Amino acid sequence: MSEPGDRQLLRQARRIVLKIGTRVLTKPAGGLDPKVFARLAGEVAEARRDQREIVIVSSGAIAAGRKLLNLGAARLTLPEKQAVAALGQPGLIAHWGRAFHRQGLLVAQVLLTHEDVSDRHRYLNSRNTLLALLAKGIIPVINENDTVAVEEIKVGDNDKLSALVAGLVDADLLVLFSDITGLCDHDPGLHAQAQVIPVLRELSRAVTEYAGPSISPVSVGGMSSKIEAARTVQAMGIPTFIGSGKTPGILPRIFEGKIQGTLILPSGKKLRGRQYWIAYAQKPRGEVQVDAGARKALVEGKKSLLPSGVIQVQGRFEPGDAVRVLDPQGVEFARGLVRFSSSDLHRIKGLKTSAIEAVLGACDYEEVIHKDDLVLTGLGMRQEA
Ligand code: GLU
Repeated sequence: MSEPGDRQLLRQARRIVLKIGTRVLTKPAGGLDPKVFARLAGEVAEARRDQREIVIVSSGAIAAGRKLLNLGAARLTLPEKQAVAALGQPGLIAHWGRAFHRQGLLVAQVLLTHEDVSDRHRYLNSRNTLLALLAKGIIPVINENDTVAVEEIKVGDNDKLSALVAGLVDADLLVLFSDITGLCDHDPGLHAQAQVIPVLRELSRAVTEYAGPSISPVSVGGMSSKIEAARTVQAMGIPTFIGSGKTPGILPRIFEGKIQGTLILPSGKKLRGRQYWIAYAQKPRGEVQVDAGARKALVEGKKSLLPSGVIQVQGRFEPGDAVRVLDPQGVEFARGLVRFSSSDLHRIKGLKTSAIEAVLGACDYEEVIHKDDLVLTGLGMRQEA
């Protein structure tokens, strides 16, 4: 049973990012299903009347494009997928436009790439635009800008994108609607008695194991990307609700505090503005592994990271880039902006601050990561070899 405090989180959520997956929006035979758009627009409109602000992250562009070209589940190359997304996106937004028009609401299309959140100026612009839309009572409908999103600037899937958007707009709740009813206590493919877990405080490894990769040709994310998104917003201090968008009336029930799915509780205080930007808006360029003493100084002493505490450096990065900070076991516990390039850091790791100048010829900074540029993430994720 969930506790009243958990339900309160749902009832009190005022700004919500609602991610709707392809499989919710399409008919079994493929193509977008106008009835689902109409129903969900009705549920969102009800939430708006209840003074809630909703930002939609909608998949479905590729599925819509496939239908227009009668491609079925055929394999597509990356440029073909991008072309199909460009073809399908107008139809996707038209479905939302029509559905919300009937509710007396306007929608705005927002197409984002990772750079729109990782670049500080673009981050602020994207945020201001979204907040201006919400202030005018308009429903932003976001998708990844698949057409231009090559690997380096791609978010990858809309679960991750919705987690970034939740941080971008300071959401109180992230809702992930797919065709699954929630996270289970056992692998539902193997155990008939598998049950949906209503409330999760921790995303333990056991839960992660029930998350298989995506096998659908029309959608991208799958269960593991939902868990990754939930883990990210959990560390940002935002709860996630995972449930089936195919269940009529599910959205109003969430806001009544009825848990028909899985609610993942936040692990700490909400990260704000710059902290969020440092820890999550950017793709980390590398890893800096520190010794036990440095970990303690960062976590308990709220100190800066000095070169003497660094034991290992991985990846290629320049001053100002974001990196993951790992403990001696290789588990991430913080992220921050580095002040040295990876090549300089290789040369000064383990050294006392007084020795930096002799090695590098100058000592512009004493800290590898200044405490103001460090955010404890507590993600507990081991770096894959
Ligand atoms: N952006 C893709 C689309 O609209 C979907 C990506 C995803 O489902 O994660 O088709």
